[in-house]
Amino acid sequence: MRKALILFFFLLLVQIVNAQSGDSQYAIIIKGGHIIDPKNKINELMDVAINKEGKIAAISKNIDPNSGARVLNAKGLYVTPGIIDMHTHNFAGTEPDKYLRNSYYANQPDGFTFRVGVTTVVDAGSAGWRNFEKFKDQTIDRSRTRVLSFLNIVGEGMAGGAIEQDNADMDAKLSADMALKHKEHIVGFKVAHYNKPDWVPIDRAIEAGTLAGNLPVIVDFGGGGLSLEELTMKKFRAGDIYTHTFGGGGKDREAITDPKTGKLRPFVFQASQRGVIWDVGHGAASFSFQHAIPAAKAGFFPDVISTDHHGGSMNSAMKDILNVMNKFLTLGMEVPAIINSVTWKPAQVIHREQLGNLSVGSEGDVTILRIRKGKFGVFDQIGQRLEGKQRFECEATIKGGRVFYDLNGLTSPLPKVVGGLPSL
Ligand SMILES: [Zn+2]
Repeated sequence: MRKALILFFFLLLVQIVNAQSGDSQYAIIIKGGHIIDPKNKINELMDVAINKEGKIAAISKNIDPNSGARVLNAKGLYVTPGIIDMHTHNFAGTEPDKYLRNSYYANQPDGFTFRVGVTTVVDAGSAGWRNFEKFKDQTIDRSRTRVLSFLNIVGEGMAGGAIEQDNADMDAKLSADMALKHKEHIVGFKVAHYNKPDWVPIDRAIEAGTLAGNLPVIVDFGGGGLSLEELTMKKFRAGDIYTHTFGGGGKDREAITDPKTGKLRPFVFQASQRGVIWDVGHGAASFSFQHAIPAAKAGFFPDVISTDHHGGSMNSAMKDILNVMNKFLTLGMEVPAIINSVTWKPAQVIHREQLGNLSVGSEGDVTILRIRKGKFGVFDQIGQRLEGKQRFECEATIKGGRVFYDLNGLTSPLPKVVGGLPSL
């Protein structure tokens, strides 16, 4: 009891000293916005405050604006956890003709993330164990975006051509060792672009995932003509991820829809029930309304919405994470479900539960979105177009309590000019 009293008076004293020195309690307060925080089931008007340590410090109906060094008026806007784009390619470099591995086709993240509300990206297999540390040095350590990685099961990474077909360079133990060495950045393993009809890369990646402490595996199913049902109903553990969910359909890669009836195949829901994660990974050629419309009609929406952002997708039908979210808005997915699929769900899938939510103590990553009403269009990989009435736009992006993007200067004060402001 005495200890509690001493603590109480100490805290009171700290508050008085802070008030007298003009020190604000919070670094930033976001006021009056419509908060969507799926983890905490919040979907209403509330305020949120971030402290100077860059963590969420308070969330309530009315936070005193005088307690913040900066105040962002979010009236009419949506306030969500910082967006996680769970499938990107960021191992940019200068090796010629090496596709997404230290070459020209991948992009450094900062130019493409904050302006669309993204605070965290997960590079999907651009690096393997042989070159992860180069990727870390060139991109992860030099980016203001939080960059995580699914390590390619191919030691040489996503360098294209024959390199990605080489079974001899798929070493579960060495891949797991690198993941354990860089636990802070490596969240799982990737299989991609494998065109032979065997399960070697998938078996090795799952083995690596198990060796590294039950990390998930994300699979781009390549073109080996293997059974999608066998992959998702037998091979996958709970928590493993199928990416390019709305792609495929040719003779080399099965789709989630039946080619004869056009309808969603029944095992898709069953795979979800056993914990399989369905990721969008839109990319340049992995999203077709041919699959997405029947899926939506059957009530099937992806667990995770992601871009597969790289030089070949960013100016095509994909564009950016908000445009991919717009497609699902147009297909009838509810706004809170869309926000969940780019925040709390991916945070859980990659075992980073301090991200993707606005619980007190979590990372102070916040995205401020506007839903603009009007007449818009979205199109798929073969140019089929749907018309929509609303779309997401990013107003501001805050990571760790710091404003990295602010479209309309919502966090900036009026200019202090001698003679006052012009009367416009
Ligand atoms: Zn990809």
